[in-house]
Amino acid sequence: MNQIQNLFSLENKTAIVTGANTGLGQGICVALAAAGAHVFGVARRSCDETLEKVKEVGGEFTEIIADLSDLSAIDSIIKEVSAKADRIDILVNNAGIIKRCDAIDVTMEDWDAVTDLNEKLVFFLSQAVAKQWIADGKGGKIINIASMLSFQGGIRVPAYAASKSAVAGMTKALANEWAQYNINVNAIAPGYMATNNTTQLRNDSSRNDDVLARIPAGRWGTPEDMYGAAIFLASEASAYMNGFTMAVDGGWLAR
Ligand code: NAP
Repeated sequence: MNQIQNLFSLENKTAIVTGANTGLGQGICVALAAAGAHVFGVARRSCDETLEKVKEVGGEFTEIIADLSDLSAIDSIIKEVSAKADRIDILVNNAGIIKRCDAIDVTMEDWDAVTDLNEKLVFFLSQAVAKQWIADGKGGKIINIASMLSFQGGIRVPAYAASKSAVAGMTKALANEWAQYNINVNAIAPGYMATNNTTQLRNDSSRNDDVLARIPAGRWGTPEDMYGAAIFLASEASAYMNGFTMAVDGGWLAR
């Protein structure tokens, strides 16, 4: 491997990916593991399928079962990874939920559930790893999973739009404070991707047709479409990128 290809290598790195059992999180686990990282995947259910896919690319994967709606999981995740790895190098804040409902009917319970996971957990898990990175002086990489609704308002998902706008804002805010410690905080904003998150949308034939007609690439995205952006932002190749939310959207935002 030459010096430039080496920029994308994640050999001897340890990554934490939340929401690792399915969808985009699963794709990100496969990508980071294929690039050489030992990936610790956090999920509230078994990650057997992810483990199989990581094995297919010759990677290393360890599952951590935790319900991330309880913020006390943060400490136990950090302890569990730290007991098995020299240090954490990469954090991918991927776990997220969406509740589809007219704004007029949104309950406080649903609002809190969405913002606690999509926003508050992202901040405090990032803070927990950054404390280690600032203390050991070696830095690290944080990749937040944002959304088209970090840029737009969406339809019938106001709490989700608010939380994903917060993710883009917090990505910039944390980059401003932590870039000096060699911590790169960036985000990926996926477009419309075929995962559990969008099942309801894809099952509504009129909304499905509307979405598809607006995507210049002419198809829904897939977890595999996340591979390149995830490896790039996790690796030395993105050393001078700070606070940026990068769209992987088949051109949705270009319209
Ligand atoms: P997904 O298949 O629904 O994945 C969401 C992940 O988060 C799952 O692993 C889910 O676990 C996990 N999760 C939810 N609540 C959790 C909890 N309390 N504790 C632990 N894990 C929890 O959808 P996805 O599309 O891959 O979503 C991944 C990220 O991409 C999310 O942040 C989402 O907002 C974002 N995103 C998706 C799209 C899209 O079009 N699909 C577009 C933009 C952004 P379970 O399987 O147990 O629920």
